Amino acid sequence: MIDLTIHKYWFITGSQSLYGEDTLKKVADDSKKIVQDLNADTSLPCPILWKETLLTADGIRKTLEEANADSNCAGIIAWMHTFSPAKMWIAGLKSLQKPLLQFNTQFNAEIPFESIDMDFMNLNQSAHGDREFGFITARMDIPRKVIVGHWKDTTTKARIAQWMRAGSAVADGKKLRIARFGDNMRDVAVTDGDKVEAMIQMGWSVPYFGIGDLVAYINKVSEKDIDNLFDEYNSNYSIVWGADKENTRKSIREQAKIEIAMRAFFANNDINAFTTNFEDLHGMKQLPGLACQRLMADGFGFAGEGDWKTAALVRTFKVMTAGMEREQGQGSSFMEDYTYHFEPNKDLILGAHMLEVCPSIAEKKPTLEVHPLGIGGKEDPARLVFNGRPGPALCAAVVDFGSRFRCVVNEVSVVETNEKFPHLPVARLLWKPEPNLVTAAESWILAGGGHHTAFSNQISIEMLRDWAEMTGIELISIGAGTTVEQFRNELRWNAVAWKH
Ligand code: MN
Repeated sequence: MIDLTIHKYWFITGSQSLYGEDTLKKVADDSKKIVQDLNADTSLPCPILWKETLLTADGIRKTLEEANADSNCAGIIAWMHTFSPAKMWIAGLKSLQKPLLQFNTQFNAEIPFESIDMDFMNLNQSAHGDREFGFITARMDIPRKVIVGHWKDTTTKARIAQWMRAGSAVADGKKLRIARFGDNMRDVAVTDGDKVEAMIQMGWSVPYFGIGDLVAYINKVSEKDIDNLFDEYNSNYSIVWGADKENTRKSIREQAKIEIAMRAFFANNDINAFTTNFEDLHGMKQLPGLACQRLMADGFGFAGEGDWKTAALVRTFKVMTAGMEREQGQGSSFMEDYTYHFEPNKDLILGAHMLEVCPSIAEKKPTLEVHPLGIGGKEDPARLVFNGRPGPALCAAVVDFGSRFRCVVNEVSVVETNEKFPHLPVARLLWKPEPNLVTAAESWILAGGGHHTAFSNQISIEMLRDWAEMTGIELISIGAGTTVEQFRNELRWNAVAWKH
């Protein structure tokens, strides 16, 4: 559903005219070869467009202004094959509005010790050409990423791919519309925030819709469409029929109806993320459970209780991971830190939600079950039940501090469990937060991170850092090396660094 190839990255090579025609021809040939090689690598999610070598201040400004004006351009990859005096770059960089990656590579991999001469060195010059460029971007404080490595190296390519994924999420965010059915949950602080500032900073637009707007769509869904979707559920999941088969069928069909209505509503309103609120279900028979789970699996952002920031972050994760090779259980989801398990040396967190966890992270084929929900006062909702795939993952939350947004991230390890949770018929995961529950939870709480998160076992911290750099928001992470003392200091330093 999400196509990352619509986002193009421009590859620009810096040089200057004093090298003469022969050298400049070689510069152009070399950079074309690098672009061809990168484009041939299927791990890179987006196409790279080669641009003419930049030799003058005017040419640089013009090219970067064209990039700004091209809505398909998601970012710039800049490489200084030779020396490119950086005063030439000031006007162009000053106007640049696209994410910037400085790719400090070199056409030649190893030094040819027997034949190396000054001509060779004058061509293979990025070791100092890219330092000149690095100075001016540092001096001008341009948001940027620097990747150093040979262009054929697989780790280098993987890092470029990750940066592109972050850039694609930024581009998607600029036109992202998050439908908010109802407001955020009454009196809750962390799920609220400044929607105007979110739009200025990330591009996220958060239009409100009355739940009646959706109910009107629900009432129009045909029985035949429900029959077809029910058949799809039946082949994708193991339905647990329980004692009252008719009630099970009725409840699952109701979720099918909601899913069909939501898809139509979102298509007509250009929506790629949404929130629901169990306090605001007037005219609906069930809290959307299965419907939200399935839409998340298809790439929609979602969060419960009107939490539009987390819904946008889940969508961000979906874009970042679009088209990635995946095994069973690799994916991203809305998540909530629910309950602690305090056991000496085995402290864990149980992550779940009332219903709405994305089946992309399911360890095995989910079961489709119908059970009462003790909150909201509606009919028994159908939901997918499963355990999350074990392995490394991360949880992230975006919180609004009034003067800025902060993204808090915690690396976690989902553990295998043989527990059956016989009285907890919801999707759930047990994880060990890094470096341990006490340090992680104390740090998270000190940072003001919320209870809702976007969870992923495919996204790296580096990808999220790239995204935060591009959007210009603070990111603070809790991982294997974190100590509470160091983390508190980091919070204090960040408070100063982010003072506007
Ligand atoms: Mn919640």
